[in-house]
Amino acid sequence: MSFDTFKFTAEINKAISEAGYKEPTEIQKKSIPEIIKKNDVLASAQTGTGKTAAFVLPILELLIKDKDKVKGPRVLIVSPTRELASQITDSIKKYAYFIHINSATITGGISYKLQNKLLSKPLDILIATPGRLLDLFKQRKIKFKDTKIMVLDEADKMLDMGFIPDIRKIYNATSKQQQMLMFSATLDNSVSKIATEFLKNPITISIEPEIKGHINIEQSLYFVDNQFHKQQLLKHFLTDTSLNQAIIFTATKRQADKLTDDLYHADFKIAALHGDMSQGSRTKTINRFKRNQIKVLVATDLASRGIDVKDITHVFNYDLPRFAEDYIHRIGRTGRANKKGHALSFVSPTDREHLRKIERFTKMKILVKVVPGMKPTKSSEKQPEKRKKNKGSFSKSRKNFRNKLNAQKRMKKNKKRTNQSEDARSAIE
Ligand code: AMP
Repeated sequence: MSFDTFKFTAEINKAISEAGYKEPTEIQKKSIPEIIKKNDVLASAQTGTGKTAAFVLPILELLIKDKDKVKGPRVLIVSPTRELASQITDSIKKYAYFIHINSATITGGISYKLQNKLLSKPLDILIATPGRLLDLFKQRKIKFKDTKIMVLDEADKMLDMGFIPDIRKIYNATSKQQQMLMFSATLDNSVSKIATEFLKNPITISIEPEIKGHINIEQSLYFVDNQFHKQQLLKHFLTDTSLNQAIIFTATKRQADKLTDDLYHADFKIAALHGDMSQGSRTKTINRFKRNQIKVLVATDLASRGIDVKDITHVFNYDLPRFAEDYIHRIGRTGRANKKGHALSFVSPTDREHLRKIERFTKMKILVKVVPGMKPTKSSEKQPEKRKKNKGSFSKSRKNFRNKLNAQKRMKKNKKRTNQSEDARSAIE
């Protein structure tokens, strides 16, 4: 199938060929015709599959044909993170290069004065993160009565970050007549539930996780004994001559700062990227990374989506991600534009459960490797055996004790998860 099938306006076709795209990706083949037909669409597609162009290209086509003179925004695109919002903005600029489209991006971390100015002008497309969008709506700086298309990108992440109540308020402020497009890495029950709430008879499109198709990304796994062992391995790989640029993912912002400090002293061109940094310094860091002035970025999951730098050769999971789908997003930062990429994961004995979740989610086993001279001790290497069920009956008091313990564990886990998602949320917005 070629892009000609979609019969796009000449200016859009010109932008597609300037971008160097020869043929549409799977998600583009399936989504573009449905969006042009003005259907609601629920699509599962990972980042890296070309999903941004899958909705931006047909939206631009619809905007060209829409002759209504309204203040807008005619299209509202909601993204969970500032980084993704900025990537979508860049894509719109690229694909709308030969047409006249007014777009604006409003996210946390940018001055209200500037954003109020942007919103005072007629707008075709508004790209926004939920918190700031709702804030400005409450201040009556924005109305959605002219909105004809609404896109919820990375809906699964919005759910994880606790943004759905904000989205609901924004959706309720629209006429609800608009075409709704929802993209998500997964279509599990909770995502399907919110889709039922926001979408009308959607066309469901499911693209298998690209993980197995990512033949240009070599995935490997190294068992480690402890933090010191992780650092030794990391330093070994960072001096690899095939490494051009790399992202190292850590579990926490503090860990990202600490590791950056340690590696900075070891003379690596390195910088941290996480939610405690001001928007200005985040943007500056990403731009320096894009220009290859920074070789290694140490980041939290803030960077797992939305960073599109073609020369990243290595992604390190210094700590495994808490959510299995983030593994796919993280490794998708390398091997872009058909280049070869390496995704290396360090797994300590406490990471085993995360590893199991990732392998269950991706339906594949990651290849275990060792570096000569840096082997893990036997106990770290060995997969812990599943605890055998005790066939003999527990005494009643022992059973009660076990139930109580499990309930306590569950409470602790829930509390930790709430704190984590609050932390992540404050990091993002
Ligand atoms: P996304 O999934 O939107 O993050 O896009 C991932 C990458 O794929 C970006 O670098 C896009 O420029 C690129 N891309 C999008 N569509 C195509 C296409 N049809 N052919 C080749 N590359 C594409």
